[in-house]
Amino acid sequence: LDPTNSNYNSEELDIEKRLRPLSFDDFAGQDQVLENLKVFVAAANQRHEALDHTLFHGPPGLGKTTLANILANELQVGIKITSGPVLDKPGDLAGLLTNLEERDVLFIDEIHRLSPIVEEYLYSAMEDFKIDIMIESGPNARTVQINLNPFTLIGATTRSGLLTAPMRARFGISSRLQYYSTELLTTIVERSASIFKMPITMEAAIEIAGRSRGTPRIANALLRRVRDFAQIKGNGTIDIEIARFALKALNVDAHGLDEMDNKILTTIIDKFKGGPVGLTTLATAVSESSETIEEVYEPFLIQEGFIMRTPRGREVTEKAYQHLGKVRINVQGG
Ligand code: ADP
Repeated sequence: LDPTNSNYNSEELDIEKRLRPLSFDDFAGQDQVLENLKVFVAAANQRHEALDHTLFHGPPGLGKTTLANILANELQVGIKITSGPVLDKPGDLAGLLTNLEERDVLFIDEIHRLSPIVEEYLYSAMEDFKIDIMIESGPNARTVQINLNPFTLIGATTRSGLLTAPMRARFGISSRLQYYSTELLTTIVERSASIFKMPITMEAAIEIAGRSRGTPRIANALLRRVRDFAQIKGNGTIDIEIARFALKALNVDAHGLDEMDNKILTTIIDKFKGGPVGLTTLATAVSESSETIEEVYEPFLIQEGFIMRTPRGREVTEKAYQHLGKVRINVQGG
C-alpha cells in the first residue's frame, strides 16, 4: 500500500475521481489558499478574462489536482490534463494549446519535469498566447506564429525547488498547500464514507484520520482498506475496534509515518547519533534526493515534531526516539 505514489493502478484512480470535491464548497481546509482563489476567480469571471496562470506546490496527495479541477468548474470552462514527463515534444504541447477554447484550463502535473525545450516553448504561450509552429519540412520548412485563445495554465509540483526561475516568474498566482489537521481529515473521511455509503463511527473516522500523514489521499486509501476488514471480519460498520484491528493488520504506523519517514528518523539516530546532520549527507545515507527530502518528507516530520532544523543541520527530537522505541545515548557533556 503506497497511497503517496501517484502512479498506482487505474481502479484506484477511478475511485479517487469519485471522491474528488468538485466545488470550492466541497473542498475542506487550505482556508487561506481558497479564500484568495475565490477572489481571483470571481474577478476573472466578472471581467470574462482567463484566470492568471496558477502554480500549486506541496507534497503529494494534498489536493493540487483537485483544486485545478475545481478552478475549471468555478470558472465554468474546460480543462485539459497532462503532465511534465508525458509532454516530451513541443509538438505535443502545440496540439494541446491550439485545442484550448477561450479561458480554458491546461493542467500540467509534475511541471518541474518538463523538458527544457518544451518548457521554453511554453513561455511565449503563457506570456503572449502565441506559439511558433513549424510547417512543412526539408528545404521548405519554416515557422509561422499562431495566436492562441487566452487560457490558464495550472501547474502542480511536489518539488518547487526544481522549477526554473523563468518558469516560476510566469505564474501570477502561486500557492503552497499545507498538511491537513486530524480534525479536517476526519471530515474528509466522513464525507468519503458517505459517498461510498459505508457506516462509520466518529471515533473510527478520527482514528483513520490521525494515521494518514496529514494527507487526504492517504486517508481515503486507508478508509477503503479498513472497509474491507469491516465487511469481512466485522459487521459492516466501521467502528473503532475494527479500525484499530485493520490498521494494525495493515501495519500502519501510529502517526501515519511512511517507510521513508521512518528510514530518515532511524538513519539520523543510528548513523548520526541523532544529529545534527547536513541535508546532503542525510540524503546520501537514505538514497533519496535532497530536494525530495526537503520538500516532501521533512515538512511533515518537522510539523509533527519528529525533526528540528538547526543551523548545523537536522536533528531528531525525543519524540522520534520514543516513536521508534530507541534510547537516546547522551554524548554531550559526559
Ligand atoms: P495531488 O494532486 O496534490 O497529489 P489530489 O488532488 O489528487 O492530490 O488529491 C488526492 C485525493 O485526495 C483526491 O482524490 C481527493 O479525493 C482527496 N482530497 C484532496 N484534497 C481534499 C480536500 N481538501 N477535501 C476532500 N478531499 C480531498
